[in-house]
Amino acid sequence: MDGVLDLHYDLAAMVIMAVILLLLSTKKNIPVRRSYVFIIMCIVQVLVIVCSMGVQLCNSVDAFVSPEMSNRFFDLYFAFNFLSALIFMYYMILWSGRSMKNRTLTKIHMLIPVAIYTYMIIDNFIHHNLYTMSLDGRYSYTYRLQMLSAVALYAMFYGISYAIRYIDTISYGKLTAITIGGAAVVAGIIVQFHYDETFFVNFVIAVAMLLLYEVAQHPLNILDGSTQVLNRAIMEEMIKVDISDEREFELIVLAMDDFKLINKTYGIEIGDVMLMQVASFLKTVSNRGKVFRYGSDQFAVQIRPGSDSLDDVLNNITERFRHPWIHEGNSIHLSATTICTSYPEDGTTLESLVEVLDYTILFAKKKGRGSVIYTRDVDLNAMRREKAIEKAVDEAVKNDTLEVHYQPIYNTDKQCYTSAEALVRMKDENLGNISPELFIPIAERTGRIVQLGTMVFEKVCRFIHEQNLAASTIEYIEVNVSVVQCMREDFVDTILSIMEKYEVRPEQINLEITETAEISALQILQENVEKLYEKGITFSLDDYGSGYSTLGYIHQFPFRIIKLDKLMVWDAFETERAGTTLKYTVGMIKELNIHIVAEGVETEQQQNKLSSLGCDYLQGWYYSKAVPSEQFATIIKKAS
Ligand code: C2E
Ligand code: CA
Ligand code: CA
Repeated sequence: MDGVLDLHYDLAAMVIMAVILLLLSTKKNIPVRRSYVFIIMCIVQVLVIVCSMGVQLCNSVDAFVSPEMSNRFFDLYFAFNFLSALIFMYYMILWSGRSMKNRTLTKIHMLIPVAIYTYMIIDNFIHHNLYTMSLDGRYSYTYRLQMLSAVALYAMFYGISYAIRYIDTISYGKLTAITIGGAAVVAGIIVQFHYDETFFVNFVIAVAMLLLYEVAQHPLNILDGSTQVLNRAIMEEMIKVDISDEREFELIVLAMDDFKLINKTYGIEIGDVMLMQVASFLKTVSNRGKVFRYGSDQFAVQIRPGSDSLDDVLNNITERFRHPWIHEGNSIHLSATTICTSYPEDGTTLESLVEVLDYTILFAKKKGRGSVIYTRDVDLNAMRREKAIEKAVDEAVKNDTLEVHYQPIYNTDKQCYTSAEALVRMKDENLGNISPELFIPIAERTGRIVQLGTMVFEKVCRFIHEQNLAASTIEYIEVNVSVVQCMREDFVDTILSIMEKYEVRPEQINLEITETAEISALQILQENVEKLYEKGITFSLDDYGSGYSTLGYIHQFPFRIIKLDKLMVWDAFETERAGTTLKYTVGMIKELNIHIVAEGVETEQQQNKLSSLGCDYLQGWYYSKAVPSEQFATIIKKAS
């Protein structure tokens, strides 16, 4: 710094700092400690600039001000400047979301620079030994100042390295931006040391602060755009801080029931308005609770045991959902399932809490609309088992280790096997053989069923092609398809292109679908079935007589075959009533001109009775279990 007055850079820096402070004071800040630390860092930076301007003003108008005054500004300038580096270190440490409790080493790393800073700055106020001023008003720096700079650099790097170590809380993008900003500041300081014609370093720092505000503190990063509550990312950050501080809390997740239906009925815009209304309502249910967007149609409310009672909050919520929500004359009834979990009772890490919450949401959806469920009432072992199976399915699909077995189906008229059902088999390294009864529903939930189903279908088509099925008595293979697959727009194309690839004719394929309540896109399902039917592919209704069986389904789809569920078949041999039901069911289906497969045929008695009743096809262990493809190939070769 010399005697020439050059305030341009400092003025520009001041303008930038004013902009940041204005943004900070007008926008909602991220309610975590690092936000307050950021504000303090900004204020200190303003003080740095004020002192820097003070020094320059004193030096240029020395007629009015004594060099003493200039030196005092200089002392303060150093004090605030290096303080800024220490605050930056603390700011970065806070980003990790780890509590300082029990972190002695971190504390030592922080305290050493603070101690050196405090000693040197206080000493400088007394002895002014960080710099010297020559008679012509030029300052030169002493080795002490260089030492203090080294300490400040150390503090900055330590802060950044701490954030790198806990990169999971701060994203790579943010960290890169912060590191670039930090490097620019360091470069600025070094250049400034060697070049003192103009004083620009405060400007560089102010620009870096603006960058920091934009990437790390901007409220856009924390508020959910459509509902204006805190977003999921900030929820995770805040919860991590609470957990590391061992601060108890309860987390209530509100999962809207059938919200897709609301969007479909009233349109997405009104759906958004409804979510906004629910979000505003949730802000009022507790005194000090925080509201977050947990998922697309889910919110979370975090409350502290001391300041709010969980029961009151829950009552509040349940009561509100009894009444409709009003928008532009529309009165809309909403339903939501509420899930409660507590830290530390129900989980001691963010991951474990989220895991049980997500699992409980699924569990709750099965239980019914509008229920209130505590995660501690849920069987966590079942959850872990499901997770393990979910992983096994992913692995099997990824590594293509699924196998398809075939169970022959006996034709009572021709008295030989004329078809077979393809059944998927999965073997996992750790879990062994897993029944499709277990993993198919899980794959349907995760969406993996789509790939899995395509793989099974491709294996079946390859089998038909390679074994030259047309030359045997087997006319077609029945392949199970999940409605999740059938509801996809690309289902028809997928099926047809695989068949074309393996030169499989439509008569060689029969697709089995099961009636379910999970149909969200009935129209697509119907269109897909019709398109394939027009191409000559037939369909079976699987598991008839179990769970959901409505006659409506039979009227809606052009089924060629109905498969009687094995339980229905077995029951018919247990009680007279069930026997009568089966008899008339078979009669009714035959009247409709639909073929019948009876599943689960295990005894000769069953075989005789079922064929005399008029079942066209019989399938079951009496004939054969599902066997690997090679074995099935020999069975059909022998038969033909
Ligand atoms: P499903 O479609 O009803 O298949 C018949 C099930 O009954 C098969 O069980 C078969 O092994 C079993 N079964 C056949 N005959 C008898 C018998 O006489 N006695 C007894 N106790 N059981 C018999 P599996 O292979 O365990 O498959 C279970 C379910 O998993 C299937 O029920 C089907 O819904 C589903 N599934 C199997 N493979 C696939 C597939 O590739 N895709 C889809 N989406 N679902 C599949
Ligand atoms: Ca089946
Ligand atoms: Ca079945």
